[in-house]
Amino acid sequence: MTEKKDKILILDDDPFVISMVEEILDFGGYAVETARSGREALRIFSEQPDLDLILSDMNMEEMNGLEFIRAIREKNADVPMIILTVNKEITVALEAIRCGATDYFLKDENIEDTLLISAKNAIEKYHLLRQNLRLMDELIVKNKELERLSFLDGLTGVANRRYFDKTLTEEWGRAARAKTWLALIMVDIDFFKRFNDTYGHQRGDDCLKQVALILNSSLKRSGDMLFRYGGEEFSAILPNADIEGVMVVAQAMRSGVEKSDIPHVSSTIADHVTISLGVGSMIPSYHATPSGMIFQVDRALYSAKQGGRNQLRTAKSLGEVK
Ligand code: GH3
Ligand code: MG
Ligand code: MG
Repeated sequence: MTEKKDKILILDDDPFVISMVEEILDFGGYAVETARSGREALRIFSEQPDLDLILSDMNMEEMNGLEFIRAIREKNADVPMIILTVNKEITVALEAIRCGATDYFLKDENIEDTLLISAKNAIEKYHLLRQNLRLMDELIVKNKELERLSFLDGLTGVANRRYFDKTLTEEWGRAARAKTWLALIMVDIDFFKRFNDTYGHQRGDDCLKQVALILNSSLKRSGDMLFRYGGEEFSAILPNADIEGVMVVAQAMRSGVEKSDIPHVSSTIADHVTISLGVGSMIPSYHATPSGMIFQVDRALYSAKQGGRNQLRTAKSLGEVK
C-alpha cells in the first residue's frame, strides 16, 4: 500500500511562481493543488478541507493575501499557512502573521533548498497538533465515563453513596433557593442478615439487585433518584415532592417489594422479603442541614423497625422547620 501523500495548496497569481513552487513540492513527494486567485483557493479548500499546508502569495488582485488568510482562519483555526513574499514586502508578511499566517517565506534564489524544509516542519507541527487534539478529545470522553462509573454501585447498578451525598447537597441548595419541597426516603431490608444466613451470600446479592429494580420502578418522576446508601439500605431523593407525595412513592416501594414475593423463610414477620422505610419532606431553610434531614429520616426508619417492620414512618418534625 502506498502511503497517502501530504497535500499542499499553492495560491499565487503569477503562473511562473506557481510552476516553480509546484515543481519543488512535487519533487519533495507532495500532492499539489494550485490556485490563481483567492476565490479559487477558497473553493478548493472547501472541497478538500484535509489540506496539510497552504502556501500563499500576498500581493494579488481581487482578494489580497490578508483577506485570504482571514477567510481561511474563519473556517479552520489550525491549518498551517505560509506566506510567499519578496523582500520588500516584509512588513506585509508580518501583518499576515498577525492575521493568522503561520510563517513567511522569501521568494529568493535559495527557495529550492529551504522551501521543502519549511513545508515539512509546518506539516509535522500541524499533524502533531491534530493528534494532540484527538487525544485530548479521547481523554475527555474517557474521563466522563470514569466519572460516571465512579458514581455507580457495582452490584445493583443504581447510583452509589458518593452520588447520594453530592445529589442531596445540590438538590438541597436548589430547593432552598427556590423554596420548594425536597423529599427523602430511607429504605432498609428487614432481617437481611438472616436471609444471607439462610440462602447464602450469592442469593443475598440477587435479592439486593431485585429490590433495587423494584424500588427504582416505584419512582415515577424523571428528577427522582434511587441510591444504594450502603449494605442492604437504599435511599431516594425526590425533588418537589411534599410529604403526601413522598408517602405515595414509599407505599408503592413497600407494596412492590411485598408483591414480588421473594421467599424469606427465616423472617419472623412474613414468609417473603419486606422492607422498612423512613420518609420526610421539607422546604430547606438556612437553619437546617442535609445531614440533619438524613438523621431525622433515619430515626423515622428506626421507628418503623421498632413498630414491627414492613411499614413506613414519617419524620414529622421536618415539615415544621421552616
Ligand atoms: P433489620 O431488620 O433490623 O434491618 O435486620 P437486618 O438483619 O437486615 O440488619 P443487619 O444490619 O443486622 O444486617 C444487615 C445485613 O446485610 C448484614 C450484611 O451481611 C448484609 N449485607 C450488607 N451488604 C451486603 C451485600 O452486598 N450482599 C449481601 N449478600 N449481603 C449484604
Ligand atoms: Mg441496615
Ligand atoms: Mg436490614
